[in-house]
Amino acid sequence: MRSAPPTPSAGPGAPRRRRRPSARSRAAASTTRSRRRDDPRRCRPRFCRRASGAPLCSSGYPALTPRILGHEGAGIVESVGPRVTTVAPGDRVGFCFVPPCGHCRACSAGRFHLCETAAMRSYEGMLLDGTSRLHLADGREVKHFNFVSCFAERCVVPAASAVKLPDGLPLWEAALLGCGVVTGVGAVRNTARVAIGESVCVIGCGGIGLHVVAAARLAGAGLIIAVDLDATKLELALHRGATHAVNASHEDAVAAVLALSGGVDHAFEAVGLPATIRQAWDVLRPGATAIVVGLTPRGLDVALPALELLSEKSLKGCYYGSANVPVELARLADLVVAGRLHVSDVVSHLTDLDGIEEAFGRLRRGEGVRTIAVMDPESAEAPASLHESVAQQEGELGVA
Ligand SMILES: [Zn+2]
Ligand SMILES: [Zn+2]
Repeated sequence: MRSAPPTPSAGPGAPRRRRRPSARSRAAASTTRSRRRDDPRRCRPRFCRRASGAPLCSSGYPALTPRILGHEGAGIVESVGPRVTTVAPGDRVGFCFVPPCGHCRACSAGRFHLCETAAMRSYEGMLLDGTSRLHLADGREVKHFNFVSCFAERCVVPAASAVKLPDGLPLWEAALLGCGVVTGVGAVRNTARVAIGESVCVIGCGGIGLHVVAAARLAGAGLIIAVDLDATKLELALHRGATHAVNASHEDAVAAVLALSGGVDHAFEAVGLPATIRQAWDVLRPGATAIVVGLTPRGLDVALPALELLSEKSLKGCYYGSANVPVELARLADLVVAGRLHVSDVVSHLTDLDGIEEAFGRLRRGEGVRTIAVMDPESAEAPASLHESVAQQEGELGVA
């Protein structure tokens, strides 16, 4: 098992580093241009915000360049377009990387996370209105990434991507909510709908899987079996509410989970590899469901024993926690402020714009759990020392 999917080294999804300008120059370019274009008389609803924190996530690899990455983050609104009423300058906001258009077939059915308009514009690297607000100093257009592009000191996003945050939640922690937390919690609450007392297995305890564990605890699951290759991540999973930990580098994970549970009601795959998807299938009891949360590299197939469909096992995908993200992100922020959901203990590193390439290297190698790029330590309320911050939380990790 791997804690992060491998980076494609070739093909259309592979990073093309030489054609991308440095993070610093990209940030400067977007800042310069957005100031000029932020005249509210010229622009459609959107706002410019000062970036404070942006976590790195394995789904943050580029396909189109030049492009500014960063699809999850938090910051402070600097200015808004003329028709924006949901946020105002000075508001602290977290980001939703699927801003629902509100009128496509998916939105009409209440499946906002599958918004067809957002999917199309995201693929194009544009905002919802089909335009880019980012340019290099020489005028060349720069693609947005999932409407957010917050590996920068400032960014321009659709109003529907901005979710107002409650007081008392530091921005460096809030930056985690818009991807890993919403996805992990939503997988349990919305996709699987785990009921009290049901058994859960979580395969892969990285940035998403740990939130799946916490959400399973919140949902009242009985057995919560965490599986990973990394003892440190398993320790974090136990802190977050896992009842058992299986180290797949030492033992047969499927056999161990079956011995503990006799087959689980819900298996969550948070790695993104065919082998671990198959493991999630193999630990199910009859009638149970495996939820694939991990992002699988393009072009891979998953083989399953078709005869086992007779036992009414199911395999189900999960995107963005099957969530109405603007609503659920705000609710999760309230839970964090209330001390009922801990999110920052998954953060193993803090860095700045210049440290992003190194952080992606750690992600590819499966080292650490989450890195947050802090653009403005003061507004992000980032701890001077991550070690001290995490140490202060010892004894209260997990879900209250
Ligand atoms: Zn992400
Ligand atoms: Zn839509």
